[in-house]
Amino acid sequence: MKSSFSRIILKQGKERSLLNFHPWLFSGAVAQTEGEIREGDIVEIYSHDKKYLATGHYHEGSIKVRIFSFEQTEPDQGFWKRKIRNAFELRKRLGFTDNNSTNVYRLVHAEGDGLPGLIIDIYNSAAVIQTHTIGMHNAKHDIAEALKEIYGSRLKCIYDKSAETMSKQEQGVVENKFLYGEAKEVVVTENGLKFLIDFQIGQKTGFFIDQRENRKLLGEYSNCKNVLNTFAYSGGFSIYALEAGANLVHSVDSSKRTAEWAEQNIKLNAGIAGDNHTFYTADAFDFLKSSQESYDVIILDPPAFAKHLSSVNRATVGYRSLNYEAIKRIKPGGILFTFSCSQVIDKALFRKIVFTAAAMTKRNVRILHQLTQPSDHPISIYHPEGEYLKGLVLHVD
Ligand code: SAH
Repeated sequence: MKSSFSRIILKQGKERSLLNFHPWLFSGAVAQTEGEIREGDIVEIYSHDKKYLATGHYHEGSIKVRIFSFEQTEPDQGFWKRKIRNAFELRKRLGFTDNNSTNVYRLVHAEGDGLPGLIIDIYNSAAVIQTHTIGMHNAKHDIAEALKEIYGSRLKCIYDKSAETMSKQEQGVVENKFLYGEAKEVVVTENGLKFLIDFQIGQKTGFFIDQRENRKLLGEYSNCKNVLNTFAYSGGFSIYALEAGANLVHSVDSSKRTAEWAEQNIKLNAGIAGDNHTFYTADAFDFLKSSQESYDVIILDPPAFAKHLSSVNRATVGYRSLNYEAIKRIKPGGILFTFSCSQVIDKALFRKIVFTAAAMTKRNVRILHQLTQPSDHPISIYHPEGEYLKGLVLHVD
């Protein structure tokens, strides 16, 4: 098939990862490019002997192409619709699309849904889109049309929140805006609990949806306990602990607005009185070192300390000292929920870091649960980099 797209020809022997459906083409594999290629263009990739391999979006950088098809295709509106529809059908099968107790979920998880550079989160009647590449951003109107068609009148607005997630040179060009409808904020239900989502000013797309199951598990350990929730954001884990009948809950976050959101979320849930909850706007490290309270359950859910391989060493030190402080001070018989969402710190390394922190305290520490991201954040088996959330639930004697 002859297409109108520019071509990238690989060096001999460099087609292996693409034959294994890995969705990234690295710059070192490229022998030559045919035609004038601009940032965000759709390109086709060929082996050195001119066999078609894949189609994707072109970028300047170490990842040259993010692949969205391993079959020759013309990505028109119908193509994006089919992709979004496939993602929807999976969420439907997983029980998210018609669920009274949970109406907040990830509809598109980038490479995990064959759509590198695209995140779509559903907040009840709102969809929030985040693109990470100019190529995917160029497809946003087709994507918005697909969402309108799939959800119909259930969908009241689509917000494009890509300004912060595009690469540096595009950040001034792309602005956050509604592609359809409008809403300031929405109330969502997660496992029967209510949360107010301000997707315009909240972090990421507004909520950390990936912790849904882990928050539920935390609830199971919280009855009559003193719970410390560090890196609390809008109080996700705290609300579950309060609902489960915790004795007291302390939430800590350094970002100013989060205290207000957590208080609003407590008010939204009729079953929670909230007089045993205190929010501290503070640095989690300082708080862990200085607080005098004794805790039965501690949650450590920091932001990604390492975003690139170059910062793995520094991040390792950060995770180690955080876990050391928490393990050192938790009550005997205490439960620690500890997480890392840094993609470059893998499961094995994270466990080693927590091992070192535990050994420094000389306490007996056992792993009760090994946690990860939920099924609406699928991982392509061909793209192990898609596995980013790791958690351990520890029992500390
Ligand atoms: N556990 C939360 C999500 C946490 S996201 C949930 O379930 O919704 C990470 C949070 O850490 C953000 O809210 C960010 O404001 C906060 N944060 C970042 N650095 C911090 C620090 N040094 N001390 C305390 N909070 C911090």
